Amino acid sequence: MVLLKTTRAWKGSEIMQEFKMYIDGEWVNSSKGSFIDVKNPATGETIAMVPSASKEDVGEAIDAAGRSFHSGVWSRLSPGERSGILLRVADILESRMEEFVRLETLNTGKSIKQVSGYDIPYTLDNIRFIAGAARTLEGKAMAEYVQDGTSAVRREPIGSIGVITPWNYPLMMVIWRAFPALAVGNSVVVKPASYTPLSTIRLGEIMEKAGIPEGVFNVVTGPGNMVGEEIARSQKIDMIAFTGSTEVGKRLSDLSSGNLKKVSLELGGKAPFIVFKDANIDAAVESAIVGGLVNNGQDCANSTRYYIHESVLDKFKEKLKKRLSTVKVGDPLNQNTDFGPLISNSQRDRVEGYIKKGIEEGGELLVGGNRPSIKGFEKGNFLNPAVIYTDNENSSIVKEEIFGPVFTLLKFSEYENVIKRSNEVTYGLGSSVWTSDITTSMRAVRDLRFGTVWVNEHVVVPSEMPWAGYKQSGHGASLSLYSLEEFTYIKHVYFDLTGKVRKDWYGQIFKG
Ligand code: NAP
Repeated sequence: MVLLKTTRAWKGSEIMQEFKMYIDGEWVNSSKGSFIDVKNPATGETIAMVPSASKEDVGEAIDAAGRSFHSGVWSRLSPGERSGILLRVADILESRMEEFVRLETLNTGKSIKQVSGYDIPYTLDNIRFIAGAARTLEGKAMAEYVQDGTSAVRREPIGSIGVITPWNYPLMMVIWRAFPALAVGNSVVVKPASYTPLSTIRLGEIMEKAGIPEGVFNVVTGPGNMVGEEIARSQKIDMIAFTGSTEVGKRLSDLSSGNLKKVSLELGGKAPFIVFKDANIDAAVESAIVGGLVNNGQDCANSTRYYIHESVLDKFKEKLKKRLSTVKVGDPLNQNTDFGPLISNSQRDRVEGYIKKGIEEGGELLVGGNRPSIKGFEKGNFLNPAVIYTDNENSSIVKEEIFGPVFTLLKFSEYENVIKRSNEVTYGLGSSVWTSDITTSMRAVRDLRFGTVWVNEHVVVPSEMPWAGYKQSGHGASLSLYSLEEFTYIKHVYFDLTGKVRKDWYGQIFKG
């Protein structure tokens, strides 16, 4: 990433408009006057510049969040009032759908088909669910758990929340992390990924228009190792909600220990895709393509380890290769494109490095893994999806998160063995099983140590259901009512029912 001075001239791009930070209800540049280049991964062209925040800017955003929280301007609104404003956000976003689709496509390199058909409509559904859920949050029943008193539980917002998001679903991840926090009355400081900050900044405009009070929703931009760390280190931030790599998640946990702030982590994945011998192979292959290639192969839920029963391995391999050959790699803005570029040159290098390593460690490259030549997109970060077969369970491509379009095929013969191997990774996010046998599927649902198990499907997560990790995929939940609870403290309230000066049990402590 290049840091630039304000004087730099902007050339030749269709976006090239102002992108400022949103702090305390004001649109501001960095106080140190520096910017970050934002590129289109399909062309390598700079499409915008966003401010690179100074420590002081971050401090102002944190203070604004704290002030707004303690003033009660948002936290003391009724759930219905907060819900109404969040619903307005969804309505305005929907009215600006075309603009957001184009912006997200240009900035991420995902196909416009995915962004317009899935990312933005699903994000709208997420917002509307969260807004509705804001009105349902409750403490447990009021009751007498000891003879002379009534107990109740209140759920209350935590305070100022630092939200740090990744580049793979820029808009959706801000919604997943910031909106449950807002729904229950917190204030937030959002730091989007430096590759993809544009839709988050534009979301700030929508928040303003929808009526979010000043200081409740702040956006600061700049490198994670400065801006992100400043947020995590701050004693004035009460909780961090982070979505990103396991490595950075661990760093944020360390930095958060200063004031023991709560940390909610949605981290990496390495999903197994287990095909039993009685599976519908055609259905499994169709889903394998989608599960492996969704979001240009850069999705924490991507199916990555394909454990195929030995009796159907050859059939699966052939069908997968055939279907993969029909996938159209190219210009993300073309409606016919299925698969766009990776987010950056360095990400492509990393994926290519894994393909090389996978082969060195005994894997056989069945197809792909090379750079396509696409006229007019020579500087894009394109890579043809690779399929590698390996018998080496300990290969890096089996154990580590690649975060790119690499299908790793392995074979198995016994149920116990495949479940054990599936579980033997540090991650535990998504997983799927393919079988027509109800007993096998129910056993796998019980035995797989992952936050989601799909049966005869992969990727689908309704807004009402939790998206959560086991092991080093993190802790805490996105979506569902659990994601709102995540951003609350629970408070026990006790009402004395006796009115006595000396309660009966005081004698156990002092006779007086
Ligand atoms: P990343 O490198 O961990 O970055 C995520 C965010 O953290 C970015 O905003 C980044 O800022 C910031 N950051 C980087 N270093 C930091 C530091 N030292 N302190 C504080 N913040 C820091 O992850 P990514 O490459 O953007 O995203 C890919 C990863 O996200 C994959 O591992 C994927 O599995 C995971 N992911 C998980 C989920 C889930 O729901 N579990 C969803 C999506 C993605 P800069 O951009 O400025 O570096």
